Amino acid sequence: MEKKNLDWENLTFSYQPIDKRYVAMYKDGAWQEGELSDDPNVVLNECAGVLQYAQQVFEGLKAYTTKDGHIVCFRPDLNARRMYDSAQRMEMPPYPKDKFVEAIKEVVQANAAWVPPYGTGATLYLRPYEFGYSSVIGVAPAKDYEFRIFGTPVGPYFKGGVKPITVRVSDFDRAAPRGTGHIKAGLNYAMSMHAIVTAHAEGFAENIYLDAATRTKVEETGGANILFVDQDGTLVVPKSDTILPSITRRSLVYVAEHYLNLKIDERPVYWQEVLDHKFVECGLCGTAAVISPIGRINDHGTIIDFPSGMEEIGPVMKKMRETLLGIQMGEVEAPEGWIMRIL
Ligand SMILES: *Cc1c(COP(=O)(O)O)cnc(C)c1O
Repeated sequence: MEKKNLDWENLTFSYQPIDKRYVAMYKDGAWQEGELSDDPNVVLNECAGVLQYAQQVFEGLKAYTTKDGHIVCFRPDLNARRMYDSAQRMEMPPYPKDKFVEAIKEVVQANAAWVPPYGTGATLYLRPYEFGYSSVIGVAPAKDYEFRIFGTPVGPYFKGGVKPITVRVSDFDRAAPRGTGHIKAGLNYAMSMHAIVTAHAEGFAENIYLDAATRTKVEETGGANILFVDQDGTLVVPKSDTILPSITRRSLVYVAEHYLNLKIDERPVYWQEVLDHKFVECGLCGTAAVISPIGRINDHGTIIDFPSGMEEIGPVMKKMRETLLGIQMGEVEAPEGWIMRIL
């Protein structure tokens, strides 16, 4: 198979339509057989459920080439399960988990020429999503739904070394108690746009959100979970019902415990602990970057500088990041079932 002629090392994180995408319809109370399509456009009725009442859930994962030349995906079964849970919370018919994984395989196989070669740092980012398709005007779930997966080649998150970022504590809240913070839905992003645009305008890479009920505990950023390392070298992982269960975070916790013999402390993390300099490293985790180190947090003018500094990722986060990347790329032996070989 001949690869597409792309400048793989210099791709950005942006959308580029590729040859095939997967489409399946839910009609008359059942999922129809899905198929690959050449058409990147979705034509909707003006009153479609997704357009009026934002009935949409999504996922994000990557297909990439390992050291030994195979095209693989990382733990797609967890994306399937999470999207199933997200859909149920939104009163949308959940897409069957085994079919989700099969559809991922079909899309990647059909677009193998778009999967970046090993060593470029680039990946084929896959975006499964589901939305309310039929018209809805009285507030109710749609009757019909569409499930799709498209892919887009994206560049390495960090070019020329992993650089720590500066983030701020947001004045806005991300997720209400007993709300939708734990599911992956576009609506959680829609309401974060104002916070991220103003954060960027003020020179911050991201917003840290505190818990909406008491504003005393660390939650996550708009699109990534947060991890800390304390003075004893323990990995401290914020725990809350309103944090999105990141697959990268769950994988890193496993790696820290079973590969690096670190102690893990999953618990509510109070903002005061951060102000009191209880932590020596901090980072964001998610599919795209694996870990982005945080060097500095600005809380309304109060600056928290982590000892790891603004030049380099701290030693514990570095080991965790390299080990998980090694597992993903086939350089370190993976736990059973983590790597799904496609080609
Ligand atoms: C997708 C997402 C993450 C990261 O999850 P991964 O499965 O690691 O990619 C974290 N927080 C939010 C709010 C997200 O939407």
